Amino acid sequence: MPEAFRDNEERERFELDVDGHVAFVTYRKTPEFITLVHTEVPPELGGRGIGSKLGRATLDAVRAQGRKLSVECDFIRNYMKKNIAYNDLLVEGDDAQVEPETSYKAGCFCGAVEVEASGKPLFAGYCHCADCQAWSAAPINAFSLWKADSVRVTRGESEIGTFSKTEHSDRKFCKRCGGHVMTAHPRMRLIDVYANLLKGYTHEPTLHANYGSKMVSVRDGLPKYRDLPAELGGSGEMLPD
Ligand SMILES: [Zn+2]
Ligand SMILES: [Zn+2]
Repeated sequence: MPEAFRDNEERERFELDVDGHVAFVTYRKTPEFITLVHTEVPPELGGRGIGSKLGRATLDAVRAQGRKLSVECDFIRNYMKKNIAYNDLLVEGDDAQVEPETSYKAGCFCGAVEVEASGKPLFAGYCHCADCQAWSAAPINAFSLWKADSVRVTRGESEIGTFSKTEHSDRKFCKRCGGHVMTAHPRMRLIDVYANLLKGYTHEPTLHANYGSKMVSVRDGLPKYRDLPAELGGSGEMLPD
């Protein structure tokens, strides 16, 4: 796939051309400083790791230009959290790395069980698998996957029942009301807290998983995986909207 990266100073953005589409990061520059404002990856390029490529090329360019960096863009901020080798680019006092941790509570249907998730989920999206369908009695499960140690039970631990149809998923519910709360994925050390239960949380889905067994189509332009993305242990195979 032919790719070209450039600093388009006229339009104040770094651009990555891929197959005739342009992904870009907008910025404001002074001779000494640069602020990365916003990142956009066209939906046509979704699910191909283009965002990460663009993030890396952009930060390498910032380093080469020798400017001190501020980041307003959430995407670049998140990319930098996972790629800490770029931390030295930041102007002193930039709080990209010390953002106060937000936490969100999720309760069962009756309220006896409550859990708290802190920080940000690693992945958020929708699952169309037959198990989620059967367990939730709904066609789609909105998931948010958190590191296991970012989730703790804050109320009603003894009320939590667990059902494990497979060794990959421990599905947890309230024994009093039957309401579903979360599913632990012990092998990945991740916990799916049902996004629609998290109070104050904005679901920002990036993908559809197990679209191969979908009951309904969702034409939202997000990447559709037949099973799971490769980084979650799946085939990475994509399906049309
Ligand atoms: Zn309950
Ligand atoms: Zn599922």
